[in-house]
Amino acid sequence: MQTKELNIQMVDLKKQYQKIKPDVQKEVLEVFESMACINGPKVKQFQEHLQQYLNVKHVIPCANGTDALQVALMALGLKQGDEVIVPSFTYVATAEVIGLLGLKPIMVDVDPDSFNITASIIEAAITPNTKAIVPVHLFGQSCDMEDIMKVASKYELYVVEDNAQAIGTDYFYKDGTSKKTGTIGHIGCTSFYPSKNLGCYGDGGAMMTNDDDLAQKLRTVANHGQSKRYYHDKIGVNSRLDAVQAAVLNIKLSHLDEYNTTRKKAADFYDTVLQGQPSIKIPTRIENSTHVFHQYTLCIKDGKREELQEYLRTKGIPSMIYYPVPLYKQKAFKKYIPDNFELPITEKLCKEVISLPMHSELDEEQLDYICSAVLAFFNN
Ligand SMILES: *Cc1c(COP(=O)(O)O)cnc(C)c1O
Repeated sequence: MQTKELNIQMVDLKKQYQKIKPDVQKEVLEVFESMACINGPKVKQFQEHLQQYLNVKHVIPCANGTDALQVALMALGLKQGDEVIVPSFTYVATAEVIGLLGLKPIMVDVDPDSFNITASIIEAAITPNTKAIVPVHLFGQSCDMEDIMKVASKYELYVVEDNAQAIGTDYFYKDGTSKKTGTIGHIGCTSFYPSKNLGCYGDGGAMMTNDDDLAQKLRTVANHGQSKRYYHDKIGVNSRLDAVQAAVLNIKLSHLDEYNTTRKKAADFYDTVLQGQPSIKIPTRIENSTHVFHQYTLCIKDGKREELQEYLRTKGIPSMIYYPVPLYKQKAFKKYIPDNFELPITEKLCKEVISLPMHSELDEEQLDYICSAVLAFFNN
């Protein structure tokens, strides 16, 4: 076993950096030379690049993905106690900001195959107090946005997409046209946390919208509620993307499609070798979305997930459980959750999912080694 040499990482940012090092260093040094550390040309350039890439009218950069969600909800002018529908099978940030703003998170179950919320699940949770929906494109695959937008328009609800895990994903409408995820709802939010598909070397995030009025509100909220310098119309926050991170993102955005293609190739490799093993369910690929594989997530039947994870660890293979506890069972959300509340699919997924190493630098030797280890575990 040459686990040391193979040096398999969950996410290998060091190896990726080595390939873009001269470009990144040049771009970052320009920021230092100019000392335009906040806003300035690098941030503006990145904002324009991302608008072009996503084909969206406005990109508003901010400090991180959690801020993006918070600022988005603040810009909608919701009242205390308004209900916001959100999956329980997601990263905490998605629901946390709802509670933070005095809104009420209404947690719903997900589809067992896509891991995403659906229009019918959402519709069943709508009450007269519902004001918004936050669909999460979990692990890199789009929610069924055409149907979700129909429900939203029927009940006059806002849609804020959590696109932190799906930047670059294409969603296809029934008529064959497509849009990038994050540009379909009223506002899209994303994160540039280092391990995301488009990550910087620190914290970063952005909001996207095609609505001029919402764009103005997002910019105002993210900048101390300021409409004009030193004139503050409402309580806002300070959330900015710094220029050093924008410089890194300028380089990495130009590689995003290539990175996402490599991830998909790794996923194809995993699929080919692991499908057919009766204890493993490989990720379902839905028809109306591409998949950028932020995570490659298996479901392990027979209650053997923990044992498999331990076995892989002994072989030098990292793996992660996203997510081990449904948000509705977390202490922090207790006050929002009715007695005897249960989301059976979320519950089951939290017991069965395991994510294998996934990044842009995985090579065939590593993939082969990982797959052989997974199969060996079940065949012994
Ligand atoms: C990463 C992530 C966030 C938060 O982004 P940060 O930049 O870490 O604040 C929000 N939602 C989802 C689904 C995420 O994966």
